Parts: sequence; structure tokens; C-alpha cells
Amino acid sequence: MKVIDLTPRGYCHGVLNALAMVKKVIKTESYPRPIYILGQIVHNEKITKAFSEYGVISLDQKDKTRLELIESIDHGTVIFTAHGISKQVIERAKEKGLTALNATCRDVMKVHRAVEAKLNEGYEIIYIGHKNHPEPEAILALDNKIYFVQDEKDALMLPEILKDYPLFVTNQTTLSLYDIEAVLKIIESKFPNYLFDNEICNATTVRQEAVMKQEPVDLMLVVGDQLSSNSNKLAFVGSHYQQIPSKLISGVESIDLNWLKGIQSVSVTSGASTPTIVTEEVIRFLSQYKENDPTTWDHQSKIELIDIL
Ligand code: SF4
Repeated sequence: MKVIDLTPRGYCHGVLNALAMVKKVIKTESYPRPIYILGQIVHNEKITKAFSEYGVISLDQKDKTRLELIESIDHGTVIFTAHGISKQVIERAKEKGLTALNATCRDVMKVHRAVEAKLNEGYEIIYIGHKNHPEPEAILALDNKIYFVQDEKDALMLPEILKDYPLFVTNQTTLSLYDIEAVLKIIESKFPNYLFDNEICNATTVRQEAVMKQEPVDLMLVVGDQLSSNSNKLAFVGSHYQQIPSKLISGVESIDLNWLKGIQSVSVTSGASTPTIVTEEVIRFLSQYKENDPTTWDHQSKIELIDIL
């Protein structure tokens, strides 16, 4: 089996920073206990489980906002995740007397600042993002008049009255260019004079470019969490732009051997929140795999949770 290791892949600076922050709090006894994370520090279940081995409690309920989640914390240290946090939640942490640390990625902070600046200049804001993701949740908390658009259908529903106002359009950092292009086409047809600020972060862009530039292969595996926006987008870019059958897997254990039947080549990449050790295990398995040799088929992960961090 020919295995192509796409680069760059794996951890970005925002994820590294967030993980370093949690590790520092674990090691530093002066931070009050318990240690909470409001959501998953980065979208990777293995990392969340590994931190839980050190007693870190990740509060993550899909039907609850960060503002609702923080109400269940009475004391201790709370860490806000790389995806960004609203001022209301920061304020609430202060009111509750919690020790709070903010791991928001600087690329996400940049979008917050851009939206705030344009709100102050009197712009109407359209924000392109994914529903139920913490990054839009924090952005939308900046002003209750921000128009949130997930797809072309939402864009078509934008009110005509917006054409009478200066209009600023921006987006979640981990989308694909395709998501944005499709929505922008509609916005442009309705409101030709909008101002657009593309905020897909560099880490997301270069990982998607590596997928775009790869040589033809029979299959692409993206190692990443189902909740990870940028991992999902890598699989989407592979299948949509490159027409390569692409699968999102959480690790070597999620490979379905049926996918490998009759294929000669596979490329591997990973999302910005995927531990390198998990991706390397996938590459090792594929490199030794032979369709006709059952001794090469074992794909149970040998990684201990403690090795993830
Ligand atoms: S994917 Fe981009 S925005 Fe998200 S943490 Fe990494 S660098 Fe920051």
C-alpha cells in the first residue's frame, strides 16, 4: 500500500497554546481546584479524555451555551477554549469569583476585533459559520443584530433592507473556501457593495491547500474528531474538489478494512486538533497493511490515554 503523508497536518499554534495552558494549570497547585474547561479545550475526544485522567472536568453539553454551562461551576479554575468566549461569560466568571484563563486562539480574537470595529463604524454584519459551534456562539454574543449565515439557504433569506446599509461580511476561521464562495455568490447578487474579510485562518488554509495539491490517490483518510470543523472541511475538500473518496476517522481503530480492498494508494492528513501520535499510528498501520495477509490487519490502537498529551 502506497501511503502519502500530507503536510502540513496536525496541531496548529492555537491548539498548542490551549493545550499548554491546561497542562500548566494541572502542574500549578496554586490554581484553585477543581479545574474546569468550558466545552472541549479543542475538538478532540481523545484529548478531552486524557485531561480527565488528571481530574480536569470538561463541561460540554450540546444543548447548552457557555453562559448556561458556567452556571454549574461554583468554585475552582475555569479555562475558556481555543474557539473563543463571549464577554458575558467572562463577566459571569468574575461575578462568581472563579479563577478564569482564556485559551482563545489569536486568529479567533482577530475576528472578534474586526467585527467589533465594524459594529462601531455603523456596519451591519453578516457572519458565515456553523450552527452549534462555540466560535460563532461567541461572535454572535457581540451584538444581537449580527446576521448568521450557515449556507446558501440562509443567505437567500437575508432581508432586502440590508442593501441600504454598509455591510461587512466575515466568517468562522475553520471553514472551507467552498462554503464561503457559495454563500458569497448569493450575498453579492443581493448586496453588491458589501465589504468582505476572509478570516479562514492560515492553519486551516495550508492544510486544505495540501489536500488540494496532492497527487491522485484511491482514498484519503483525515484523522480528526467528528466535532472538529477543520477536520470535517479537509474531508470535504478532498471529496468535493479532488474527487477522492475521503473518510474522517478518529484513529486507527476507526478504519474499516473494506475501504482498503483493492486500493493501491492512500493519503493521510489530520485536523489542527489531532494529536500527532494518533496520526502516526494510522500511517504505520497503512504502511504495513497487505490485503492478502491477515497478520497485517490488526488495527486496534495501542496508544494509552496518558501518551496523548
Ligand atoms: S484552527 Fe486556526 S483558528 Fe482554530 S485554533 Fe488553530 S489556528 Fe486558531
